Amino acid sequence: MAFGFFKNLVDRFTGKPADWDKLEETLIRSDIGVPMTLQIIKELQQRQEKITVKEIVNVTKAHIEQIFSVANPKLRPLPNRPKVILMVGVNGTGKTTSTAKLAHLLQCDQHTVMLAAADTFRAAAIEQLKIWGERLQVDVVTSEYNGDPAALCYDAYSTAHKLNIEFLICDTAGRLHTKHNLMQELGKVVRTIQKHDKEAPHECLLVVDATTGSNALAQAREFKQAVGLTGLIVTKLDGSGKGGIVVAIQNELGIPTRFIGTGEQSGDLQYFDKDEFVNKLL
Ligand code: GDP
Repeated sequence: MAFGFFKNLVDRFTGKPADWDKLEETLIRSDIGVPMTLQIIKELQQRQEKITVKEIVNVTKAHIEQIFSVANPKLRPLPNRPKVILMVGVNGTGKTTSTAKLAHLLQCDQHTVMLAAADTFRAAAIEQLKIWGERLQVDVVTSEYNGDPAALCYDAYSTAHKLNIEFLICDTAGRLHTKHNLMQELGKVVRTIQKHDKEAPHECLLVVDATTGSNALAQAREFKQAVGLTGLIVTKLDGSGKGGIVVAIQNELGIPTRFIGTGEQSGDLQYFDKDEFVNKLL
């Protein structure tokens, strides 16, 4: 995975006098966001000497590194009760696939997992998760099409608790008639799970598609406001040449990227590693 972001900078600015408009355009196109773009340009413009491409890359890298200050610890189970992970996001971002990939990642770390197919409004999503469950040999709790997702998650928690399952991952709906309905539904799921455990959901992960650029930033803003988020899963970072959105969401909304998706197979999900990420930008 290489995002080609710095390569664009190097290709466009080597041996040429600083063209601030072009630099601004390149940085904005990379999805790192307007505020960070302006900060980088301001810092470079304050330098008296001739700007080289090396300086552009170094200043940009330093700004990006600075916002990822904290570590990204692995998910750990809770004593005596399931850890509930709520997967949220709009349809098509890779939510159901990421639910399965996360289950697989946790299995690889020797954890037990159960899935809840709480996107009950899409028959295809229920079927898709069932197929993943068979493939990964993970139990999937389902209800009938159009069933109540909150009740489903409540029941799934009871089952997971009874069976001493360490992680319960709930795949929620991504589209109802209106955004208001969707957020209300999610709120109801949260309140219902809290009847079992008032600290649940212990993780609320928003799935965003890196290739959608600033749309992902807008989605993160809305979901953060409506349900609160503990982190992000950024999908489709394979071959897109885009990774800057991770920077914008961290910088502008303070939401850490926890996992990155780099393909459609169960093994294509990794914990986000800031050092690796910044290196691969080059
Ligand atoms: P949902 O509607 O958000 O649940 O999205 P799905 O999980 O059904 O995924 C939508 C499409 O994106 C499917 O074709 C997935 O295989 C694909 N997909 C999901 N994650 C990734 C990823 O990290 N990389 C690539 N290339 N495709 C992905």
